[in-house]
Amino acid sequence: MRIDVITIFPHYLAPLRESLLGRARDKGLLEVAVHDLRDWTHDRHRTVDDTPYGGGAGMVMRPEPWGEALDTVVPAGEKARLIVPTPAGEVFTQAMAHELAAEQRLVFACGRYEGIDARVVEEAATRMPVTEISLGDYVLNGGEVAVLVIVEAVGRLLPGVVGNPESLVEESHADGLLEYPVYTKPASWRDRDVPPILLSGDHGRIARWRRDQALARTAARRPDLLAALAPEALSTADRTV
Ligand code: SAM
Repeated sequence: MRIDVITIFPHYLAPLRESLLGRARDKGLLEVAVHDLRDWTHDRHRTVDDTPYGGGAGMVMRPEPWGEALDTVVPAGEKARLIVPTPAGEVFTQAMAHELAAEQRLVFACGRYEGIDARVVEEAATRMPVTEISLGDYVLNGGEVAVLVIVEAVGRLLPGVVGNPESLVEESHADGLLEYPVYTKPASWRDRDVPPILLSGDHGRIARWRRDQALARTAARRPDLLAALAPEALSTADRTV
């Protein structure tokens, strides 16, 4: 997969060189290019913002540098999906991460100030698919942190990025449930014992216990997730506990 990020703070994206994603880049599983939006300005001050039409507080990102940046990063004839982080977007989920992981190329446009002039998304949508994504119902200072989150969630789903692909199957949100609690050695720590069933070696009972825990945790913490599960998925879950 190829990822391009357009931002006025290129250094903000440095963590994309760390850990699993850094190794994925070294192995050629993921290619990331970070671009400075100011490279597409033409004035001495490299201006990317201006006052909002209609008045009001704050500044808005001007459309011209964005238009030129997108024309350069995605020239006519090339295919890419544009992702625009914004609190007004669709809320990011694991299902969306899987959908994006199936793309060949993603381009991220990081807003700052009061956001990007609305015509940029309108115009870009005439030549490439555009998805506006929100991390959640709160406001960040810029799109860079959202890009770090989305790229990490998407990148770890790419084949070969996570060493053991099994670990992607059992984790939270993979099957619509939160993951069961996990434990490691020692078996007893500060008078707290690991649930004895996990030491039993009975894989069938352990699997049923884990499913039971996942259901109970999801019901207690995120009943909305249980409500959203297809009835067949829930009845399968019921049969296994
Ligand atoms: N004035 C905008 C509004 O009220 O919707 C908020 C602008 S915010 C200060 C600046 C930038 O941060 C946005 O353009 C977007 O790129 C990013 N941002 C802020 N909150 C976000 C969220 N919840 N999800 C994704 N991106 C967000």
